[in-house]
Amino acid sequence: MATPISTIPKIRDALRATFRSGLTRPIAWRQHQLYQLARMAQNERELICDALKKDLGKPKTEVLMAEVGCVIERAVKSAEQLPVWAKAEYPEVADWQKPWKPTLYKAPRGTALIISPWNYPMILTFQPLIGAIAAGCTAVLKPSELVPTFSQLLDEIVPKYLDPNVYRVVNGAVPETSKLLELQWDHIFYTGNGRVARIIASAAAKHLTPLTLELGGKSPVIIDSAYDIDLAAKRILWGKCNNAGQICVAPDYVLVQRDKQDELIKAFQKHYDSFFPNGALDSPLFGSIGSDLHHKRITSLLSRTKGEVVLKGRSDAARRRLEPTIVKNVSEGDSLLEEEIFGPVLPIVPVDSLKQAVDFVNARSHPLVLYVFSDNENVKQQVVSETQSGGIVFNDTFQQVAVHELPFAGVGESGYGYQVMKHTYDTFTQLRSSIDMPREAEPYLAIRYPPHSEEAVQALTAAVHTPIPSSRL
Ligand code: NAD
Repeated sequence: MATPISTIPKIRDALRATFRSGLTRPIAWRQHQLYQLARMAQNERELICDALKKDLGKPKTEVLMAEVGCVIERAVKSAEQLPVWAKAEYPEVADWQKPWKPTLYKAPRGTALIISPWNYPMILTFQPLIGAIAAGCTAVLKPSELVPTFSQLLDEIVPKYLDPNVYRVVNGAVPETSKLLELQWDHIFYTGNGRVARIIASAAAKHLTPLTLELGGKSPVIIDSAYDIDLAAKRILWGKCNNAGQICVAPDYVLVQRDKQDELIKAFQKHYDSFFPNGALDSPLFGSIGSDLHHKRITSLLSRTKGEVVLKGRSDAARRRLEPTIVKNVSEGDSLLEEEIFGPVLPIVPVDSLKQAVDFVNARSHPLVLYVFSDNENVKQQVVSETQSGGIVFNDTFQQVAVHELPFAGVGESGYGYQVMKHTYDTFTQLRSSIDMPREAEPYLAIRYPPHSEEAVQALTAAVHTPIPSSRL
C-alpha cells in the first residue's frame, strides 16, 4: 500500500527532529540498530524469501546468499568496525601547526533518502542503510514499486526491529517518489537506471543535496585469445545466470578473437548443459524476469538482432521465464548493443585484435565493470591504462561483489559515489575539519594583524617563493 502523499513531509520533518535530538550520536546506539537490522534479516528470512519468490520468482538460495546473508554479515561487521571508523582523525601537520590540534571529526550528514530498485531489493535497500545507520544519519527507505510484496513486508517488519523515529519506509511509485524529491535531504542515495537518475540529480541540485548514483550500463567482457576458453565460458555463464542476468554487474556482451568464437560457443553450450541438465525454463535454480514489461523488452531486443542465435533459450511470457540465449556475430548497430540487456541474453562480438576490443569499449559510455580474461600481465596493464570503468575484474565475473573492502561504484554513465562497508559509512559521513587555537599562540599570530610591516609581508607571502623541483621528463 502506498504511503499517503500528505504524510511524506511530516515523515521527513520527524526524522529531522530526531536527528537534531542527538539520539543517533552514541556509537553503542548505532551498533544496536545494526544488530537489530541483522536480526530482522535473520528472523524474517522465510518471509523475505517468500516475498521475493512471489514478486520476482527468485530462487531461495540466491536470496539467502546475495540478499539476506549479505545484509546480516555486513551489518554485523559494520557494527564491529564502527568504533574505529568513527574515531576522530588527527592528520600529520607541520610542527608549528601542531598546537592548533587539527582534527577531522566524523559527522553524520543528517537525514538521508535511500531509493532502491527491484532487482536485488533487499541488499540494495539495506546496504546503503547500513552505512547511514553506522554514520548516525536518520533515513527514509523508498523501495521499488515493482516488488510490491517485498515493499509491503518492509513496511511491516522494519518498524518491529529498527527505531521508527529514526528509520521509515515510504512506499509507492512516481507520485510518492516525486513528493520525496521535492523535499530537502542531507544525502540522496539512488540505485537504478540512468534515465531516472537524471530526474533524481535535477531534484537534488535544487537543494544542493549531495548524491550517490549507483547505476548500470553495458559491462563488457574481453577474452584474450590465449586464455583458457572453457574456463572463461564457465565463469561468464555463471555470472550471467545469476538472477537471470538482471544484475547491474552482469556480463553484458563478450568481445572475443574471431577465430575463438566457435570454441567459446561450444564451451557455453557444455556448461549450460551441466548447470541446467533439463534446461533453465523450469529450473528452481534459475530466476524469472522481473516484470512483463522487461520480458517484452528483452524478447523484442532478441527479435531484432542481426546476429546468429546459437544457444536458443525457450521463452514463456506468461510465467516471465526466459532461458539463457547466446547470439554470435553481433556487430556495431545491432539491437543487442543498443542498451543494457539486463536479462539472460549474451551477444558475442568477434574482434580481430585486443586493440579493436579496447577501442570498442572506449567508443561507448564508461561501464560499471570491465571483465578481462587473460593470464598475460601486459594485456592486463594495457587494459587498465587504456580504458575507464567503475571496476575492472580479471578472470571471473560477479564474484568481486563479495569483497567487503572494495568500494562499489560507477564512473560517468554508470554513476558516482562509493558503497560497501566503510565506503558506505564514508558516503553518509561528513569530514568535519577543525582547529582549536590556543590562547598561547597569540605572540606567533601577531604577524597576521594589520598594519603589516615589510618583514611581516615577506613572512606572510613566503610560500610564493617555494622552490619548484625540476621535472624529470
Ligand atoms: P526501478 O524501476 O525499481 O526504479 C528504481 C527506483 O526509482 C524505484 O524506487 C522507483 O520508484 C524510482 N523511480 C522510478 N521512476 C521514477 C521517477 N520517474 N521519478 C522518481 N523516481 C522514480 O529499477 P530500475 O531502474 O529498473 O533498476 C534497474 C537498473 O538499476 C539497471 O540499469 C541496473 O543496472 C541498475 N542497478 C545498479 C546497481 C548498482 O549498484 N550500480 C544495482 C542494481 C541495479
